[in-house]
Amino acid sequence: MNAAEPIIQIKNINKTFGTFKALDDVSLDVSVGERVVVLGPSGSGKSTLLRAINRLETIDSGTIIVDGRNLYDPSQDINRIRMELGMVFQSFNLFRHMTVLENLTLAPIKLKKMPKSQAEELGLKLLDKVGIREKADWYPVQLSGGQQQRVAIARALAMEPKIMLFDEPTSALDPEMIGEVLDVMINLAREGMTMVVVTHEMGFAREVADKVVFMDEGKIVEMAPPDRFFENPEHKRTRKFLEQIL
Ligand code: ADP
Ligand code: MG
Repeated sequence: MNAAEPIIQIKNINKTFGTFKALDDVSLDVSVGERVVVLGPSGSGKSTLLRAINRLETIDSGTIIVDGRNLYDPSQDINRIRMELGMVFQSFNLFRHMTVLENLTLAPIKLKKMPKSQAEELGLKLLDKVGIREKADWYPVQLSGGQQQRVAIARALAMEPKIMLFDEPTSALDPEMIGEVLDVMINLAREGMTMVVVTHEMGFAREVADKVVFMDEGKIVEMAPPDRFFENPEHKRTRKFLEQIL
């Protein structure tokens, strides 16, 4: 891959569910180390877009290239591409019957054939990073929502992805736990992780985003650096959205 080439290249993608157009001619580039925050009302296609990036959703037309590989080229091994993408969901989706550390070591051992001791060492290092190493032997139900989401982030990082995708990672959390999860994400951003984040946390968007993308009705309506996006949005629809939420 050419170093100057965006690590994610989305060109003119479309997706319909029945007759409903969930993605309407969406194009987006993400550079290495770039932090993109995706905003928009419920049902605007944000999750569908994120899911398309790791092919949890197929698209009807257009192209998506991740790290130089076309997601829809049949000769590409989708599982290899997926290893480069970490994904964190609103509902943490931890494996309930496994300890925190087992949640972190499963994929590296199974998919990367990492020796167990090495996977555990990596897992503990990542738990340190998200501030809950002392919970390594606990089960997910014994943790708060904020702690579970931090484990989910650590689990995604355990595959050493090049890109992290976050779909409303704090939306299911009690307000007092949102900050601890955002702090972990802010640290990741500082370390230079390439991130695409769907969120309603405007403070995070302002502080962390290199580029804010506003979606409505399956389209990207506006794309701008955060200061311009929040202070001087170009489109009426963006202004209306911001008036409603700020
Ligand atoms: P957002 O994440 O912005 O709230 P989504 O991408 O989840 O929006 O959904 C966009 C639209 O597509 C919604 O109206 C939703 O009902 C519809 N949709 C999403 N997934 C499916 C599906 N699997 N089947 C049918 N409709 C879907
Ligand atoms: Mg969504």
